[in-house]
Amino acid sequence: MKKGKKLYEGKAKIIYATNDKSLVIQYFKDDATAFNNQKKSVIEGKGVLNNRISEHILSNLSQIGIKNHLVKRLNMREQVIKLVEIIPIEFIVRNVASGSITKRLGIEDGTVLKEPLIEYCLKDDKLGDPLIAEEHIFAFEWATKKEIEKVKKMILRVNDFMIGMFRGVGIKLIDFKLEFGRLKVNGKDEVILADEISPDTCRLWDSMTDKKLDKDRFRKNLGDLIPAYTEVAKRLGILHEQSNVSAVNVTKLSSVKRKRK
Ligand code: UDP
Repeated sequence: MKKGKKLYEGKAKIIYATNDKSLVIQYFKDDATAFNNQKKSVIEGKGVLNNRISEHILSNLSQIGIKNHLVKRLNMREQVIKLVEIIPIEFIVRNVASGSITKRLGIEDGTVLKEPLIEYCLKDDKLGDPLIAEEHIFAFEWATKKEIEKVKKMILRVNDFMIGMFRGVGIKLIDFKLEFGRLKVNGKDEVILADEISPDTCRLWDSMTDKKLDKDRFRKNLGDLIPAYTEVAKRLGILHEQSNVSAVNVTKLSSVKRKRK
């Protein structure tokens, strides 16, 4: 497969064309942003970890029948994905109240919700990804009723699977963000899971201590983001004690290579 020109650069990823029109390459950057791009930094090695963790979760999800855009991981920072038309909505799934909902509604941080709560935000950086109601989605035709029904079913399955997967390794899944895209299959649009699932897009707390193992370490200046993401990867069985050392070395190597370019 040949890597073509850059099609799109987002806050944490770059998308490149390939010689196959239906496939693109997704490159994971080390850039970290928060609070609608107001806080920015480069955290060396973050992209490598997110690439591995997202690959692990998405390939496990496809094994339980949740269709998604991942084709295969290519290397430390890149994966081949199916080109989809992204539905312009961020689907936020909450099991425990934390982050924006606590401020918006005055709910105490850490409140366990009786049922998972799905919130919708319009994907629009200029507007600061505003919270919207399901009615807005239909009023402005961002997605059809049929699509949202299917997405909601998929979200609840993803959530159940991920709660169990993380619980098994001593991590509480507090909340996360999902994105979906449309794919043409035999002339018909099919909705599949897209984007990434990683500690950048989930809140993950250690089950025993509530230690934050996610991007809140960056948002709240807690430090030690790489050790936390590495801990998540190790617990999921992606990095082993020894390969962890080599992963760090490869991270260093890849940054040396980048600097030389
Ligand atoms: N999230 C994300 N991208 C966004 C907004 C939120 O991945 O643009 C994730 C975030 O990491 C958290 C969950 O969605 O796991 C809920 O985020 P929240 O609405 O609390 O926003 P925040 O407090 O991060 O601004």
